Amino acid sequence: MTLEIVYHDDYLLHEHSPTHPERRERLMYTMDQMQEEGVFDLDMVELVEPEAASEEALARVHTPDYLDRLKEMSMRGGGSLSGDTHVSEHTWHQSRLAAGGVVRGCRDVVEDSCESSFVMARPGGHHAFADRGHGFCFTNNTAVAVREIQESYDEVDRVLVWDWDAHHFDGTQEIFYSDPSVLTMSVHQTGRTLFPGTGYVDEVGEDEGEGFNVNVPVLPKTGDSGYLRVVEEVFEPVAREYDPDLVFVEAGQDCHFTDPITDLGVTADGYRRMMERAVDLAEDVSGGDLVASLCGGYGIEGGLPYTNLAVVASMAGLDTSNIREPAVYQPPQRQPDVDDVVAKVKSTHDEYWNL
Ligand SMILES: [Zn+2]
Repeated sequence: MTLEIVYHDDYLLHEHSPTHPERRERLMYTMDQMQEEGVFDLDMVELVEPEAASEEALARVHTPDYLDRLKEMSMRGGGSLSGDTHVSEHTWHQSRLAAGGVVRGCRDVVEDSCESSFVMARPGGHHAFADRGHGFCFTNNTAVAVREIQESYDEVDRVLVWDWDAHHFDGTQEIFYSDPSVLTMSVHQTGRTLFPGTGYVDEVGEDEGEGFNVNVPVLPKTGDSGYLRVVEEVFEPVAREYDPDLVFVEAGQDCHFTDPITDLGVTADGYRRMMERAVDLAEDVSGGDLVASLCGGYGIEGGLPYTNLAVVASMAGLDTSNIREPAVYQPPQRQPDVDDVVAKVKSTHDEYWNL
């Protein structure tokens, strides 16, 4: 199995601020750990460097006014899009490079120069809307890549976007909300307890896209077993019925139990198992075509390098029997189950899918 890892040293340039959770060390520690573990020495792993996405590709998703504003703010040396999302002199260049990284991963998978691709870019993109950025995101890298791929390849008609970031993918959801050619599915910590506050079960899509957006908001401390049940009982049956030509994972690694800004209790081994399911799903529906793009993950020295290693091991088909955790996980005495939310999703989506 060949796995491509897409990375560029310029992904380290942009900073919101030196102490912001989304800072350059997120990638530096992961790259160090992958180097130490010998990931880049393996025959089945190839490290590639992307180019920036074209302005034409960005403009398929984002409004001209927003792109002009982002570019000018960055060229001027910086500014602020919201309380937690700061533009630096590097943001314009790096956002284009992040979107270009995801485009590169998708192109290489569709063209079969690798079997799957893990895009390790920053900044992430799933909170970026067509006309604004927030939540540490500027350009919606997934949407830019999906539109580019649908435009470029006749064989890619339907795309599945599966987001397992702890936060709801509000930007991605809205961009594809009325589009049945992209099935969007998200499992996230419920908006009652976490930014951005959206992602309820009844947000199912609209017009032609009605039924093609699946939200599963879960309670804090849900953990591996709850996540895997959501995958088995909701995501897999819907995805198999949809039968996409490409499986795309917005791989947010901030569900890990060490993450400082969320509270979900997923382990690195839980991530390995979820990625194994995504690999199996892609084998069955899209001839193995699978792209995963790093989203959140703020346990910079602890969780993130370990979860990234776990998903890379799954994607490369390595021996994953000994996935390590950065600390011992003590599950809570009362762990919430997902019975209620799974039942609600099934009854809400019953008219669209065989659930
Ligand atoms: Zn997140």
